[in-house]
Amino acid sequence: MNIQENLEHIKAELPDNVTLVAVSKTKPNEDIMEAYNAGHRIFGENKVQEMTDKYEALPKDIEWHMIGHVQSNKIKYMAPFVSLIHGVDRMKLLKEINKQGEKNDRVINCLLQIKIAEEDSKFGMTAEKAGEILNSDALAAFKFVNIRGFMGMATFTDDETQVKKEFSFLKTTFDKLKRYQRPNCNLEIISMGMSGDYKIAIDCGSNMVRIGSSIFGSRE
Ligand SMILES: *Cc1c(COP(=O)(O)O)cnc(C)c1O
Repeated sequence: MNIQENLEHIKAELPDNVTLVAVSKTKPNEDIMEAYNAGHRIFGENKVQEMTDKYEALPKDIEWHMIGHVQSNKIKYMAPFVSLIHGVDRMKLLKEINKQGEKNDRVINCLLQIKIAEEDSKFGMTAEKAGEILNSDALAAFKFVNIRGFMGMATFTDDETQVKKEFSFLKTTFDKLKRYQRPNCNLEIISMGMSGDYKIAIDCGSNMVRIGSSIFGSRE
């Protein structure tokens, strides 16, 4: 696996408006440093403990994205440094992120995770629920969160039509809800697409892709 080559190959293909999150979960620091030395700075992890350990060991100009499902009692460990939390799927979590943001005197960027897959295994809220949250008075009181957009994961399937349908639904949801621009709600990001489906996601309007195995090789 030549990480630098993989990275350059993928970056060359991405349109300029698409941000690449290199998903380094389960991979050692040496692998991350290989991507770092090739100029990459944005990395995604799905476990708070692992991300915190990596944050402590690695250069401080790395932007760490939490892409996994988060428990509210773990927010405090990443609040001092996390750059974007992708998987916010309930109001309770936003409340805790706001609390920990205040403690650290920093505004924490979040994406609302929308359930777009038919599979039951995927997390996320309905588009209606997201609309309710964005329109709520409770959100207005959260001065230490900034909702930057939405995240979604498509069904794991070879059926491109299905995947396209799900990604298009997230784009439509984004287009409908982006009118909710408020001081702590600046909707710009649509995080969708992984190694197997990022090209479809970009065709459907993604502007942030989360790619792991195509850069770092398959995981155990
Ligand atoms: C692991 C993971 C990815 C990256 O998956 P690959 O198929 O390795 O590219 C993207 N998003 C989330 C939420 C993940 O957990």
